[in-house]
Amino acid sequence: MPGFELFGAEERKEVNDVLETGILMRYGFDGPRKGIWKALELEKAITEVFGCDYAHLTSSGTAALTTALSALGVGYGDEVIMPSFTFVASFEAVLSVGAVPVLVDIDETLTLNPAAVEAAINPKTKCVMPVHMCGSMADLDALKVICEKHGLILLEDACQSIGGTYKGKKLGTIGDAGTFSFDFVKTITCAEGGVVMTNKKDIFVKSDGFTDHGHDHLGVDRGADLHPFVGYNFRISELHAAVGLAQIRKLDGFLAIQKKNNQALRAHLAAIPEISFRKVPDESGDSFSFLSWFLPNEAITKAVVAEFKEQGIMAGSFYWFVNNWHYISKWDHLKEAATLNGISTPQKQALLGLQQQQFPASDAVMSRCISTAISLLWTEEQIKEKGEKMAAAIKKVLAQQ
Ligand SMILES: *Cc1c(COP(=O)(O)O)cnc(C)c1O
Repeated sequence: MPGFELFGAEERKEVNDVLETGILMRYGFDGPRKGIWKALELEKAITEVFGCDYAHLTSSGTAALTTALSALGVGYGDEVIMPSFTFVASFEAVLSVGAVPVLVDIDETLTLNPAAVEAAINPKTKCVMPVHMCGSMADLDALKVICEKHGLILLEDACQSIGGTYKGKKLGTIGDAGTFSFDFVKTITCAEGGVVMTNKKDIFVKSDGFTDHGHDHLGVDRGADLHPFVGYNFRISELHAAVGLAQIRKLDGFLAIQKKNNQALRAHLAAIPEISFRKVPDESGDSFSFLSWFLPNEAITKAVVAEFKEQGIMAGSFYWFVNNWHYISKWDHLKEAATLNGISTPQKQALLGLQQQQFPASDAVMSRCISTAISLLWTEEQIKEKGEKMAAAIKKVLAQQ
């Protein structure tokens, strides 16, 4: 999964280019920067590699989501439909723009269930935010149809699925806008960083201004820029962008290794008839950063997790159902509306309302699911050993049932 595993001379070279000039900021200082524009160069590379018209870098994936939502005009009074299984950043971004996150069930794709989305739509709904979790994608055709039918915005949180595709198009470039995270554990990293991708010029221009205090960036003198709207500082630095530039050049290599290692590990688990795998709407588009697999029921899954821990082979595998970061079951701070400052009444009501809301369909999926992160560093020998150990532990548990 993570690009940090293959950090090396290429990243150091790009960072050194910036350190040589000492111009660590992405804007201005045209003379002293001696033609070094790493953020601009990375944005151009992103549009080329992922096939979108515009890309604007941000300081994080969370900032990218916040920026995209703002640029898309999502805010107070609006509801954003998102999945019950995601990373906390997805609802953080929705809350930060003043909108209400509406959590709905996922299915065996581990992403939004289109029927659950449709059922949650009401006059306040403004945006549907699929989160392409664990390297693979939501059913984007179904979601697009729903969005078009109801006049809703489609914003893809593709932070975990860099390099994945859906029917030939890169994830993150299919909706009205899409985001990646380049934090330290993502498929390619900047240490910290993110990007808003879009094919709509106005969304790009708004994102560009929003992340830099509303600057219009039209003149050559930064101090003389106008501010057509209120923005914030979600800028990426040249140092971070430099790391990302080296990483994006390695992306095809990372994806090839992920695919090979994922399929090799999968073969060990596929030999066990009780195991099934995550449903992938476009199988050829999986980024293969995780192998997500299901056991027959919650009790067996918990027993397998316990056995893995006992044998010291749980590292790199995740039982999201009881994970603090990724699933509604553990988001007590969200359900208690435990914010540091005041939030709007609709937001507070919606969050407290989550205490009463049950997600049986999501529970039925997540309680049986284990995801194993795919390392770029595994040798064939290590995959064989890992696969055999995992399979033996699973068989041992199944035999005890
Ligand atoms: C990592 C991640 C984010 C946010 O990224 P940061 O760069 O860590 O802020 C958002 N959504 C998902 C699904 C993620 O995995």
